[in-house]
Amino acid sequence: MTTTTQRSTREWQAADAAHYLHPFTDFKSLAAKGTRVITRGDNIYLWDSEGQKILDGMSGLWCVNVGYGQQDLIDAATTQLKTLPFYNSFFQTTTPPAIELSELLAEVTPPQFQHVFFAGSGSEGNDTIVRMVRRYWDVLGQPQRKVIISRNNAYHGSTLAGGSLGGMSGIHAQGGVIPDIVHIEQPFFFEHGRQSRSFEDFGLEAASWLDRKITEIGADKVAAFIGEPVQGAGGVIVPPASYWPEIQRICDKHGVLLVSDEVICGFGRTGQWFGCETFGFRPDLMTFAKGVTSGYIPLGGVMVGERVARVLVDQGGEFNHGYTYSGHPVACAVALANIRFIQREGVVERVRNELGPYLAKRFAELNEHPLVGETQTCGMMGAVQLVKDKASRTVFDSSLEVGMVCRGHCFGNGLIMRAVGDRMIVAPPLVMTLAQVDEMIGLIHQCLDLTL
Ligand code: PLP
Repeated sequence: MTTTTQRSTREWQAADAAHYLHPFTDFKSLAAKGTRVITRGDNIYLWDSEGQKILDGMSGLWCVNVGYGQQDLIDAATTQLKTLPFYNSFFQTTTPPAIELSELLAEVTPPQFQHVFFAGSGSEGNDTIVRMVRRYWDVLGQPQRKVIISRNNAYHGSTLAGGSLGGMSGIHAQGGVIPDIVHIEQPFFFEHGRQSRSFEDFGLEAASWLDRKITEIGADKVAAFIGEPVQGAGGVIVPPASYWPEIQRICDKHGVLLVSDEVICGFGRTGQWFGCETFGFRPDLMTFAKGVTSGYIPLGGVMVGERVARVLVDQGGEFNHGYTYSGHPVACAVALANIRFIQREGVVERVRNELGPYLAKRFAELNEHPLVGETQTCGMMGAVQLVKDKASRTVFDSSLEVGMVCRGHCFGNGLIMRAVGDRMIVAPPLVMTLAQVDEMIGLIHQCLDLTL
């Protein structure tokens, strides 16, 4: 542990409660309970200040795709810190890692992406999206095209613009929503699709809600549609295969820009480099963060497709937007090492051909459990929908907080699994062995039994 002091768990908790306001946390109740202090990570495991070993089923926060302790990434950061820890890209300067990373991103992303705009996080990336799509339509002489359509229960970050793009009512309630952001319903079959004839028919129906909304607003006022290929923080909501191609067709029909938020799905999580490749659509813009550095250091950004780049680069003049840490050289050096590791080790192909199918098979077996109403997986992400009554697929009264109970059992038994309402989700590192998948499934079984 690299800290200035060595302390007992109680001492850490007391200092934490006195000074540290955690994100998305009820400060007072955490202070009363005491936080868990994570002190070390190796491969797919973490250790806490009590020495307990924990299987990290969430890759930190959907980001540690290559696992903890990868020497290539550590060496890249160390070397770059010694060579040039910081220089900016504002005033007609830049650094070699930022240039090389733009080149490598153009290589690993779909062919329409030849340009990148760097930010420090996914939220900053999505703030960039808001300004960029509105600027695009301004330059084209259609400044009235301002509305961005997103989906309920989406997560696009927690800055004011990111939180507004997202569809989380709790975030909207604290600070409001910026103007000209509109939400449609998410493609969540378990909740909204049971009246539909089939999963695939439901995908077309859910996509038609976008067509209806664009028509209602007027296509000449709509700038863009944004979505996560698989809604992650919303509960790993895997859409039908019919959904995204139909969304693409509707955006094309109305000339609306299509934005894929790949902050979770990017860099191999779904079994292709990017989620849009898994679901067969061709976005104009893509937000990325998390997996670009496997979370070893903050970095985010926007891949800018040629449709937008040709307007902004050729006709846009100065783009009045940027962050001190856009293209941070240490972050870019770590991203380069991370992407090269993923390429060299065939991580994406392994998720597609071996790990993802194995996770799907083992998750399907969880359907036998009396608490489970459905399971869904996509690559290395999975969801278990908890139900009160399996036959009628009736969900629990939300006040029972059954997901939080289950999450508590997981945490106590050495597994990090997240609860989104009564949907339990995982997104483990992409470098697991099959035996480690079995270990995780065994722990999930135990925790479901304890929750019964
Ligand atoms: N977009 C998606 C899809 C995310 O899941 C997240 C974070 O979880 C974000 C954006 C925001 O990223 P950050 O927390 O790095 O600002």
